[in-house]
Amino acid sequence: MIKIHDKQWFIDRIGKRIYREKNVCNCEVCTTVHKEGLIITDEQHANYLYDCQELDLIYYENTNRKIC
Ligand SMILES: [Zn+2]
Repeated sequence: MIKIHDKQWFIDRIGKRIYREKNVCNCEVCTTVHKEGLIITDEQHANYLYDCQELDLIYYENTNRKIC
């Protein structure tokens, strides 16, 4: 089930690795991010990822539950 996180969730994870809930496209970049996750670099990045939930329907979570 998809969980939408609030902005604080991303801010709390600056410097940490999070994972995409699913792979959004099959390009090399997205496939790598899906497998390995990404690290939130700063507050601007956190805000961007937060916006991606609504704009691009990309959702994140703490662990990599499934690789498809
Ligand atoms: Zn892609």
